[in-house]
Amino acid sequence: MVHEVQHLIKDYPSGKGILIIVPHAKLISQLGPLIATLAPRAHITTFSILAERVPLKARIMGEFERQQLIYDALNEHQWFNARYRWNFAEEAVKLMDELSLHGIVWPHDEKSLVQILASAYQSALSQPLVFEAKVVYTLWQLLHSSHECLSVAMAYIERLQRLPQFIGEDAIIVMEASLHYPSEKYCIEELSQQKPVKRIPIINTSPSDFREWLYHLWMPEQPLNLVEWIHRYEARFRLSPITGRIKIAAYNHFEEEVQYALNWIAEKIASQQIPIMIVAQDRQAARRLQACLSSKGISVEDGTGWVLSTTTVVAGVHVCLSLIQQGITRQGLFELFHLPWFLSALAEPERDVLLEQLKNTIGQFAHLSQLNKWLNQRSLDEEIGQVLGEEQVKAILLRGLSLFQQTQASLSDWIHKLFELLELWLMLEAIQQDHAGRQLMDLLQQLAANQQHQQGSYTFNEWFKWLERILEMNHYQPDSQQAQVVFTQLSQCLYIPSKATLVLGADNSQLPYIPNNILFSDAVRSLFQLPIRENFIHQAILDLLELFDHSDSIIVMYRTENGGIKTTLSPMLDILENTHLSMYHESLMLCNTAQHTTPYFKTIERPSVVIPPQRLPKTLTASFYQRILNCPYQSFIYDVLGLKKSFPVKEEVTKAEFGQLVHQILSLSVETKRRQSQYSWLQSIQENTDKLWQRVLEQDPYWRAWLVYWNSLIPAVSQWFEKRELEHWKIQGSEQWFKKIKTKDHQSTEVAGSIDRWDARMKEDTLLVEILDYKLKNSKQISKKDIELGEEIQLPLYAQLMDEYEVNASYVFLEDDPVKEVTVNHLGELSQQIIDRWFIILQDTQDGMGWPAHAETTICQRCQYQGLCRKQFWQ
Ligand code: SF4
Repeated sequence: MVHEVQHLIKDYPSGKGILIIVPHAKLISQLGPLIATLAPRAHITTFSILAERVPLKARIMGEFERQQLIYDALNEHQWFNARYRWNFAEEAVKLMDELSLHGIVWPHDEKSLVQILASAYQSALSQPLVFEAKVVYTLWQLLHSSHECLSVAMAYIERLQRLPQFIGEDAIIVMEASLHYPSEKYCIEELSQQKPVKRIPIINTSPSDFREWLYHLWMPEQPLNLVEWIHRYEARFRLSPITGRIKIAAYNHFEEEVQYALNWIAEKIASQQIPIMIVAQDRQAARRLQACLSSKGISVEDGTGWVLSTTTVVAGVHVCLSLIQQGITRQGLFELFHLPWFLSALAEPERDVLLEQLKNTIGQFAHLSQLNKWLNQRSLDEEIGQVLGEEQVKAILLRGLSLFQQTQASLSDWIHKLFELLELWLMLEAIQQDHAGRQLMDLLQQLAANQQHQQGSYTFNEWFKWLERILEMNHYQPDSQQAQVVFTQLSQCLYIPSKATLVLGADNSQLPYIPNNILFSDAVRSLFQLPIRENFIHQAILDLLELFDHSDSIIVMYRTENGGIKTTLSPMLDILENTHLSMYHESLMLCNTAQHTTPYFKTIERPSVVIPPQRLPKTLTASFYQRILNCPYQSFIYDVLGLKKSFPVKEEVTKAEFGQLVHQILSLSVETKRRQSQYSWLQSIQENTDKLWQRVLEQDPYWRAWLVYWNSLIPAVSQWFEKRELEHWKIQGSEQWFKKIKTKDHQSTEVAGSIDRWDARMKEDTLLVEILDYKLKNSKQISKKDIELGEEIQLPLYAQLMDEYEVNASYVFLEDDPVKEVTVNHLGELSQQIIDRWFIILQDTQDGMGWPAHAETTICQRCQYQGLCRKQFWQ
């Protein structure tokens, strides 16, 4: 580049200068000083900055106006369900912009557009494509019917068309990577008719061996044969080109991942390896990391072009609006009370005391009806005075709700109500002190002032959806300059100078990143020659290749689980890791991340506790025993310490509560049937269902959904009761509590349990006894292997309670249709093993053996003590 500038400037010693067009604004500050020393009259810029030289003839229509236009049309056409319309409007606007930027020259008459679309009908006569083409056509009409209103994309194109007239310089140098769109290429072609234009490729000027190595691995001409590939390269690369350059780190938890990234950054800063570049594929982790870095005083620049909706302040506003949308619930109030902005106008200690008091009060309510009663029971002294108390908070909560009672309003009116709400809940002032908060408030002011938003009438839900989309579209502008850490996207990383690089979110769901085109399929996109899935993958591979080729120190991180779903390493990196292993017998994975975690991230030993024998519970129940087998440490906290949640925090009715009610109904039905033998089982179960459900429904309407579900199971359940009767089983007891002392080697223990049902019948001269355990599950949800190996200990333990009989035992799966019984094989043997195992546990405990924390992930996911055992920090 420098050489080209020197060469060109010689030809125009006293001319008007040289124009240099680069692909990224970051390059201006990097190349500018060097070029200025060689050629003071050279001007370095980008296409988008240049385009600003051209005055516009028409007004640029705002993104929101265009979305609103499409939303109204979609409403009119009723093409999609109402709740998707804002998403579709946003998607349609994006598609129109992409089409414009990719040089689809829109005809100004409908006939010509119909001709373009006709090829869609011919290329694929599938119904969805016809439908999509119809949508595209209508949207085109909407967005292009007025020449007065341009979109940003259309304005850019119009400016580029007239740009050659505004370029006075003698010669032009353009880096080829700047030419993304046809309109830019066209502009350069036009300029080259008038003056010398020199194009410079910015990559591949001196392709490295390593680049070739990677290129042929990721983009083989034929299907990759790894053995051949290794054979081809092992002579040339006797030493690994990657060792010491690229490392991969995997984490199970979000917190772990962010902590590790923090430590890594702290180390790099300490060793002066700055600036550091973070390539952010995972925006959730990157947002969190940004917040952590800022709180530690590390300067951050956000070049990811992220949107306002990812900021914490928007999440806070979302909590408030969700509360309005769903009505006041306990969970919603807890979330509101946790917001740092709620009641923030109060002085600190009083605010904390008040919020704590409120949380304690609402925490005691088990049902929504109690919460509503508390909210509406207000003393006379509710006016907001100098000192806020519980009564006044209730009053402002209800007043906040009443602000949104109106059924329909304009988009602007809803925004004004939001401002009123934030003021009423004493949040506005604090939000305006937050950097992102100020941007949010400014945006809301602008939206409210827009004339178009003052027209029309929308429901609260429509407005809320619209606002969410707007916040997804507007970019958050960070305020840091010359930062130590720069966040960027993969496609931009070539232009960011850095000494060390961290890639966040390199799992298969995020790398390569493929944008979701929820409305328009690849068929429509390829018709208009827009990038499709394959192109995005190809581009991501090229971008990663450039990143690896140009960086000396990279750490690539990913999470093995995302939102409860298992994820794996990105396929590109997975190939890299496996190839490296085969070729150099060395993994790129960081095996022990603990060694890198000194400054902020501590690891701990896995906890284990010795229990004094006198503290052991006196009675052995099936659930206590099962907890010990699942995780002894969990059992220690629950059964020995007795540390349980102090109050239920779930708003909904849980399946466990539903199960208890069903057990009661079935037990009562047995009694009813004994009293009223003419009743069928169906009648008996139905009658008790009506009686018991009526009671719970009065307390909490959430039971209604479970009633509908239970009604769907009743026919199969009553048929199973009939079947047992036809098989001559007589019910001996239901929900019956048993206790028995068991002894072995001078040790004794009390075993106890409530048996759901036990039946007996005579077969010839033998008395058969069977214990039954109702399961509100499908039989597929339980592993037969677990039953046989004694992992499901409930029935074998109950067999100990009835050891005077030779019993059988079966699990009864009420969610199967027909209801299925699964009998425990070799019950006697299994039952003996299980009680023997208990005596061994007892002896070991008395001998001082610890109860360690250990469990499978599925058990830990349901465990309420995750924070206590701190599994994520174990070495
Ligand atoms: S989180 Fe897992 S290991 Fe920790 S106590 Fe709970 S079950 Fe045990």
